[in-house]
Amino acid sequence: MISGPSGAGKGTLVSAALEALPSLSLSISATTRSPRQGDIEGKTYYFITDEQFDNLIEERGLLEWAEVHGFRYGTLVDQVNNTLEAGRDLILELDFQGFEQIKNYRDDVFSIFIVTPSMDVLRRRLERRGTDNLESIEERLIAAELEMQAKDSYNVVIVNDNLEKAKQELIHVISQQIRQ
Ligand code: 5GP
Repeated sequence: MISGPSGAGKGTLVSAALEALPSLSLSISATTRSPRQGDIEGKTYYFITDEQFDNLIEERGLLEWAEVHGFRYGTLVDQVNNTLEAGRDLILELDFQGFEQIKNYRDDVFSIFIVTPSMDVLRRRLERRGTDNLESIEERLIAAELEMQAKDSYNVVIVNDNLEKAKQELIHVISQQIRQ
């Protein structure tokens, strides 16, 4: 289970871990936000309507869900169960609210938090990424401050100041967990 503020490089790091560790699968969440540049239906998220999200909650189809930056995101029960039953290791990318819920659901969850060296670095990365407008960047920075307060409750914190180093650290930490 991996968290970290938007723009901390989670996506890039998780992709590197998935490539390096073939037994690992990524849980694809459902979300009510619209696809951004680079998003692929069923690969980055399942993009669904508010009504479909309500139905999933009602049918108990979500292991956890939370509202993040004004949209809802949730982990699909079926997907988690199918992956674990197939004997594969699963990586969940959730915000800290999701982490709190998952922690109560299973006690064998290993949690990793990714941070940037400073808020200035985070701001620059969000601006450079160019996928969010100014208002959305400000919202993400406020959310990042909040999210950072939760970092000490994670098993490991990885500082992404050097991408290659952070990739190796993440791969090392995950591979230690999946060999147990
Ligand atoms: P983004 O819109 O940038 O893809 O994601 C925004 C935030 O939502 C990120 O912090 C991400 O970790 C979180 N998120 C993505 N999927 C889920 C999910 O299924 N549950 C929860 N609780 N958070 C999620």
